[in-house]
Amino acid sequence: MSIITYNHLNGKIIFGRGSIHILEQLIQDMKPYKKALIIDENVSRFHNQLINELSSTINPDLHIELPGGEQTKTIDTVRELWINLYEKEFTRTSVLIAIGGGVIGDLSGFTASTYMRGIKFIYIPTTLLAQADSCIGGKNGVDFKVKNLIGTFYIPTYTIIDPIFITTLPKREFRNGLAEIIKHGIIGSEKILKMLEKNMQEINAQNQLIEKLIRLSIEVKLNIVELDYKESGVRRILNLGHTFGHAIEKISDYKISHGEAVSMGIATAARISKYTLGFTGEKRIINILRNHNLPTEIPYTLDEMEEALLHDKKRWSDKLTLILIREIEEVIPMDIELEELKRVWEAI
Ligand code: ADP
Ligand code: ZN
Repeated sequence: MSIITYNHLNGKIIFGRGSIHILEQLIQDMKPYKKALIIDENVSRFHNQLINELSSTINPDLHIELPGGEQTKTIDTVRELWINLYEKEFTRTSVLIAIGGGVIGDLSGFTASTYMRGIKFIYIPTTLLAQADSCIGGKNGVDFKVKNLIGTFYIPTYTIIDPIFITTLPKREFRNGLAEIIKHGIIGSEKILKMLEKNMQEINAQNQLIEKLIRLSIEVKLNIVELDYKESGVRRILNLGHTFGHAIEKISDYKISHGEAVSMGIATAARISKYTLGFTGEKRIINILRNHNLPTEIPYTLDEMEEALLHDKKRWSDKLTLILIREIEEVIPMDIELEELKRVWEAI
C-alpha cells in the first residue's frame, strides 16, 4: 500500500507502511533549534534496531524513555519533561517528537502544547488504539483526580502512522484498538463492518487487512473532527460506547481495559437503541464484537454503575448523554434521565 497524506486542521497525517522513514526529511525541513525524542520503553525494546537508526539520524538533544501505561500519565511526569526542556534550553522553534501508545502521545502532546505556549510536535502512534483513534483530533491530557481531567487540544504538526509498529503489540492491546475500529464502523463506515464480518478468523497485525481497517477508521474520525474540533456538537458521537465504557473501567479499577469496556458499552448502546429507536442491527453488532473476542456483557448492575455514570469527569448532573444507533452510519446523542434509563434497563 502506498503512503497517503491527509490534511488535518493545521497539521498533516502521513499514513502507510514505511512512512516512519519520512521522519528524517521532515525534521530536516523544519530546521528546529533543538529536538527532543520521547519514546515508550516497550517500543524502544521491541523495535530496537529501528529506534536506534532513527535516533542516530535525528541526533536528538534530549532523549527520554518512559514506561507506557496509565501510571505514567501524571502531572509529575509532565513536570519532569518541562524541567528537561528548560534545562536543555529548548525554545519555541524546537520540536518534540513522541513515539509510543496513547499514553505517550497524551503526555507529550500536553507537554508540547504548554511549554512556552506551544512548541512543534510530531507524534508517531504505536498501538492500534492510538493509530486508529486517539492520534486524530488533537486531544491530549493527564490524569489528575480523575482520568484525563487536565489537557488541551493541540494538533501535531505531523502525525506519522506506520503499521510496522503494531506487529509487536500484545493481543489484549490489539483488541483494545479493534473495539474503537468497530465503533468507527458503526458511526460512519459500513465497509469496516463488512470487512470484519468477512474475516471472522482473528485479525492480527500481520494481516494486510488491518492496514485497510486503520485507514478507514482514520477517515471516519477525521471527517467528524474536521466538522467539530472542540466537541460542541457532532464530535460527541465519537463517544459511542464510552458513557458505559468509562463507568465500567472505573468500577473495575481499570482491570477491564478501555477497549473491553467500550465493547461492552457499544453492545449495551445497541440493545438500548433496539428498544428506544427500533434499531435492527443489534445482533449483527454483538456478533462482530464477539467474533473478534471482545466482551459484550457488562458484569455490573445499573445500581453498581450509577455513581460512576453520573460522576464521570466534567459532569455533575442527573442527566446522561448516551450515543444511540438509529442505523449503521446514523448515530445520535440522546439525553436521558437516570430514572428513564432504569426503566429501559429493566426492559432490555
Ligand atoms: P493506548 O495506546 O491504548 O492508550 P498505552 O499507551 O498505555 O495504551 O500502551 C499500552 C501498552 O502497550 C503499554 O504497555 C506500552 O508500553 C505498550 N506498547 C506501545 N506500543 C507498543 C508496540 N508497538 N509494541 C508493543 N507494546 C507496545
Ligand atoms: Zn475510546
